[in-house]
Amino acid sequence: MRRIPAITLVCALAVPTQAFRADDVVLAGYGPQSSRAEREWEAKLRAIPEPATLRENMRRLSARPHHVGSAYDKENAEWILARFQEWGWDAHIERFDVLFPTPKVRVLEMVAPAKFTAKLEEPALAVDPTSNQKSEQLPTYNAYSIDGDVTGPVVFVNYGLPEDYEKLERLGVSVKGAIVIAKYYRSWRGIKPKVAAEHGAIGCLIYSEPHDDGYTRDEVFPQGPMRNPDGVQRGSVMDFASSWPGDPLTPNVGATPGAKRLALKDAPSITKIPVLPISYGDAQPLLAQLHGPMAPDAWRGTLPIPYHTGPGPATVHLKLEFNWDIKPVYDVIAKIPGSAAPDEWILRGNHHDAWVNGAEDPVSGQVALLEEARALGLLYKQGWRPRRTILYSAWDGEEPMLLGSTEWAEQHADELRQKAAVYINSDTNDRGLLNMGGSHTLEQFVNGVARDIEDPETKMSVWRRMQLAGIAAAASPDQRKELRQRADLRLEALGSGTDFTAFLDHLGIASLNLGYGGEDEQGIYHSIYDDFYWYTHFSDGDFVYGRAMAQTAGTAVMRLADAEVLPFDFVDFADTMRQYSTELKKLLADQQAAIAERDKELDEGVFQATLDPRRPTVAPAREQAPPYLNFAPLENALDALTRSAEHYRQALAKSRAALGAQASSAALQALNLQLIQSERRLTSADGLPRRPWYKHLIYAPGVYSGYDVKTMPGIREGIEQKRYAEADQEILRVAQALEQESALIEAASRQLEKLSP
Ligand SMILES: [Zn+2]
Repeated sequence: MRRIPAITLVCALAVPTQAFRADDVVLAGYGPQSSRAEREWEAKLRAIPEPATLRENMRRLSARPHHVGSAYDKENAEWILARFQEWGWDAHIERFDVLFPTPKVRVLEMVAPAKFTAKLEEPALAVDPTSNQKSEQLPTYNAYSIDGDVTGPVVFVNYGLPEDYEKLERLGVSVKGAIVIAKYYRSWRGIKPKVAAEHGAIGCLIYSEPHDDGYTRDEVFPQGPMRNPDGVQRGSVMDFASSWPGDPLTPNVGATPGAKRLALKDAPSITKIPVLPISYGDAQPLLAQLHGPMAPDAWRGTLPIPYHTGPGPATVHLKLEFNWDIKPVYDVIAKIPGSAAPDEWILRGNHHDAWVNGAEDPVSGQVALLEEARALGLLYKQGWRPRRTILYSAWDGEEPMLLGSTEWAEQHADELRQKAAVYINSDTNDRGLLNMGGSHTLEQFVNGVARDIEDPETKMSVWRRMQLAGIAAAASPDQRKELRQRADLRLEALGSGTDFTAFLDHLGIASLNLGYGGEDEQGIYHSIYDDFYWYTHFSDGDFVYGRAMAQTAGTAVMRLADAEVLPFDFVDFADTMRQYSTELKKLLADQQAAIAERDKELDEGVFQATLDPRRPTVAPAREQAPPYLNFAPLENALDALTRSAEHYRQALAKSRAALGAQASSAALQALNLQLIQSERRLTSADGLPRRPWYKHLIYAPGVYSGYDVKTMPGIREGIEQKRYAEADQEILRVAQALEQESALIEAASRQLEKLSP
């Protein structure tokens, strides 16, 4: 479900220059002989995925609406199951029963100063053959909005982020008792009603502003790829980042028939106020009836109106009622057993459910996954036997909020904690650069994979193209220097918004999230127009990036599954942890400086001097200066981590020649079991402050950002939210986790040294 606007294309960046890695370079975790054999199998794998097959499978899977609980959702799961079985996989469907609300009543009307009733309807378009499947389409709504019937003045709140409310306060505008209208994007959409409710609003509208995904960027659908005046972004508003994703009623356990369920009224992830998404066609009449201060420059969109904040005079009536039903989700789980290490698992997943037809989200990713599965099945018939067990999953219920993947991960938590080495996720796939996010212990590994994949447009390696695109977009000479000189491109840390969340954040399984994109603008996200017609006209219509995606993730899975030693590397990880520590110290220093500066300006009378009596603003309040925090434990842990990481890298290089002979030794198995636990060392059973479901101490979605990651979240959010004593405590917890990690890495290095002659 994750949607990153195209402008953030170059988020994972990085380095040196050969087009493709020479085939004689020994793969990390392999001996010279096994590396050669692996490269031969991988070359066969990459030759199998076919654009024509990707296209036909997309047509099939997106032919009808297939949201949770729909007939075609179940049909798709059964069709996917049959494909896995046909390709020789041991596959089954696992079902969970989850809370999934659908709309019963949706009313939005302006009652003053003019009458207007919102359409709340995306029309069928003659040119688009699936847009008329009205009886099967979910209406436009936000899932997990609470029921409500409210009337109040409207206030425009920009993107509805905490800093937008600070700005409103300075303008003297309150949202108490108001219905806010926020623009989509810049945060997980569920953050908008959350922050609005915290400030006293009684309802929330979220609209798609043309400046963000409409006519300001390109022609609108069907002439172009962008959102038309009636297009609406459906989507979940569950407050998963403060509580947990998955079924709101069954935290920590799988939503099986006998599972203990919370009462609906006790589920913390349902919104506190009613919330409804609308088109800009429905938003414009409301925005046009706002007076009060002009909205700040940066808030204004490109509708032909003056953007005021309100409150009012526009007054709206919002009435929402939902069917609070329990619905089945169908996860397809397929396995190829490991030959030498069946209890070491490599996991790979992409969801299959959509908001409507979902050709782009998620079928573009699902069909790539299916081509990987077909290829691996074919190679198995030709005699390839993975060392480790490979588990492929087509998740259901991702769109409402990671329902299928979270319930499955919770149901199998004990076994996953023991056996799962890596989880590789994908979701949507389009044309452009490879976006790589994940655990930094896999940074070196995934850079290696990207060096071996050919970019369909430039014919250079996708890695080289990312490096050069990074150089073109770099903001400073230092960034360009790093891109040219650092061995690996940096991996983006993972926040949330798609199915890796339970694996990484709850279970501490090293994870990757992969997908191509960034070259095409799009404004059909979560609308009825995200369909086969749109995708084949405005995205990867020749499916060459679908093939590249199957090659990329397929290579990653095979390489992880066959390696004698799991190819984790800790040098890049240690480097990144040091970077985070530096960022956090700067964050605190900047916050101290900003508060000192503000106090000084209050003393000087800056705010009175700049006050325009006709456009009055309110001076900011004084704040206590943030204290200094003790980063010493973290610094010490980082030094130890860097030493052990270097030690491990040397030990692995020295052991290379011996790996072949050790292929089935107990010592090698013991080493891999240690490595599997390396990401787990970064978790705490107590979890993060106020959100114990989130166990990872290094990566988490932000409580006030949702999609976007907060790295070392306890420390970072402690500083950002001005809980300094808590931040001090969290420094200790992170330092302890990194020390445990160093100890594991040292033990693994000694184990490796035993393998060498
Ligand atoms: Zn998706």
